This record gives sequence, structure tokens and C-alpha cells, in this order.
Amino acid sequence: MKTCTRCKVKQPLTAFALNPRMLDGRQSQCKACGNIRAKAWRAKYPERDKANHDAWAADNVGTMRASRRGWYARNPSKVLATTRKYQATKKAATCECCQGEDAKANFELVYAIGRKLGMHVDHVKPLAKGGLHCLKNLQYLTPTQNKRKGAKWQEAA
Ligand SMILES: [Zn+2]
Ligand SMILES: [Zn+2]
Repeated sequence: MKTCTRCKVKQPLTAFALNPRMLDGRQSQCKACGNIRAKAWRAKYPERDKANHDAWAADNVGTMRASRRGWYARNPSKVLATTRKYQATKKAATCECCQGEDAKANFELVYAIGRKLGMHVDHVKPLAKGGLHCLKNLQYLTPTQNKRKGAKWQEAA
């Protein structure tokens, strides 16, 4: 048992966060007090809290991207299967007005421009939700917007 220096409540050691710099290897304030203090700090310095959070997120994006790339490299057949499946979904969802050669050329143009601008070509109504692979159902989104939208649809599903 150890007494918290802030709330003065005697609590088991596990109620105190680890801190190797302390003599007993634990914080002097209990976890509950630590949380209160952290919350107060975030309220007092919202910009710094946001900066910390953004830095953390940026680091993790890199880690996640690297691990995803590794997975792609290790599972080429799965990647190919996913790509084929997506292409088949797109083909099945292609509307009548977009069947011809002209439409095909237009699709290619839309995607080529997207690549050039660094924008994602998005289906306004997602294919997974019964949207059509139609020129009229396409829009450009920034990668961030696309990610946000993806999350929103997943939540709604
Ligand atoms: Zn306490
Ligand atoms: Zn169409």
C-alpha cells in the first residue's frame, strides 16, 4: 500500500503508474489523480495537446503504412484477388450509359487526372452500398477526405 501525495488516499501499488525514476518504481500520485491532472493540462493547453496528438498520429501513419506495404509484398496473390474482385464489382455495377468505348476512355481520363492531382476517385454512393460505377457517380476527394468518408460509411453500416 502507498499513500497518494495528491488525494492522500492509501491504495495498492498497482493504483500507481510505473515510473522507473522513482525510488519504489511508481508515481507519487495515483492513476486517478494522474488522469485528472492530464485532463486539466489538456484543457489548459489545447493547442499543445493537439500538436502532441498529431505528432503521434503522424508517427503511427508511417508505421501502419510500412506494415501494410510489407503485407502487400508478402501476399501478392491476395492483393491480386482483391484487385480482381474490385474490378469485377465495378464491372457489375457499371451502368448502361457507361458501357461504350467512349465511356471507357472517359473513365480512364478521370482516373488519370486524379492520379496527376494526387486525388482519389471516389464513388459518391459507394459500390458496396449499391452505388453505380457511373461517370455521374464519381467525384474527386483528397486522400484525407476519402479516409474520413470511408470511416463514416463503415460506422453507418
Ligand atoms: Zn490520488
Ligand atoms: Zn453511367
